[in-house]
Amino acid sequence: MSTVTTAFDRPTFSFELYPPRSAAAEEALLGSLEHLVNAGPEFISVTYGANGSSRSSSLAVLLRLLAETDVRAMAHLTCVGSSYAEATRLIREFLDAGVTSFLALRGDPPAGSVEGDAFLGDLGSAGELVQLIHRVQAEREQFSLNDVPGFPGAKRLSSGHKVTIAVAAFPNGHPRSRSVEQDLDTLLAKEAAGANLAITQLFFHADDYLRFVDQARSAGVTMRILPGIMPVLSPQRLRRIVELTDEKLPADLLAKLEAQSTPEGQAAVGIEHAIDLGNQVIGDDRPGLHLYTFNQHEAVIEVLRGTGLLSLTTEHN
Ligand code: FAD
Repeated sequence: MSTVTTAFDRPTFSFELYPPRSAAAEEALLGSLEHLVNAGPEFISVTYGANGSSRSSSLAVLLRLLAETDVRAMAHLTCVGSSYAEATRLIREFLDAGVTSFLALRGDPPAGSVEGDAFLGDLGSAGELVQLIHRVQAEREQFSLNDVPGFPGAKRLSSGHKVTIAVAAFPNGHPRSRSVEQDLDTLLAKEAAGANLAITQLFFHADDYLRFVDQARSAGVTMRILPGIMPVLSPQRLRRIVELTDEKLPADLLAKLEAQSTPEGQAAVGIEHAIDLGNQVIGDDRPGLHLYTFNQHEAVIEVLRGTGLLSLTTEHN
């Protein structure tokens, strides 16, 4: 079996945010952001609308992270509907802003579209976007000359920061997948294209992730595969998430949430489930947790505390 990438000697954690859609949501996010940053994540990723709709609001959150914190900011980028030229411009814009970590996605084609439709753009897969990010970054490195401090007018080649390029992985299969092999081949192709990290779609049972990682290793995938976990705090949210992701509704979790008569009781059940899941998936060759935050800090901080990950960096008040 191939050597697995283990750049870290202990489990890491990271968070996903989405760009706020109103002034009130932005203010709420700022409050939560402070707590999330203080927890000391490896990185914070910010989602991106499949049709580019959130370009400026996603970038605004990333710029805030870059300007005001030491946390690595990871930009989700999607390419469905973009020409090569548009995708190249987008990557340059994010690199110019100082972003050096990306989650490269194809994004979902609009409902009713058929592969091959011209409006789906030039890039047919996340792997092609991975390659394009590497190419744009390499061209920039080749041609970018930086000022030399203390020597006005002098220029030197930039120092060559390597980009981190993450990709999506689907432990329970991509909704369009016909077989596990197809999911494994898709992930292998993404790594071959130059991805160096995978982040999974959310899942609700540890075995789904553990089995997938074993299969991916046997198939030759060597990059870290971070398990994506979301504390689900109400039955309504669970139903909505399952609808959005096309995952199977976890009947056991739904029953436990519905058995609670108060929002507090439901939240406690959701957090306990996420802690239990987290504890089962952290271990050898299991790199840590990527937590879907829903732009709120309380639940994910509880999950970090419950899994013992928070105390590895800084205790959080
Ligand atoms: P690829 O894996 O390259 O897929 C290319 C095309 O092939 C897709 O259009 C898909 O329909 C199809 N396909 C993919 N896998 C298979 C398979 N195994 N078998 C058959 N067909 C397949 N979406 C957003 O719009 N914005 C985001 O910020 C965003 N963040 C995400 C973060 C994570 C961690 C994950 C897991 C998903 C995220 N998504 C996001 C959703 C993602 O765009 C869709 O799941 C998309 O269908 C698949 O993603 P991909 O980018 O990995 O494309």
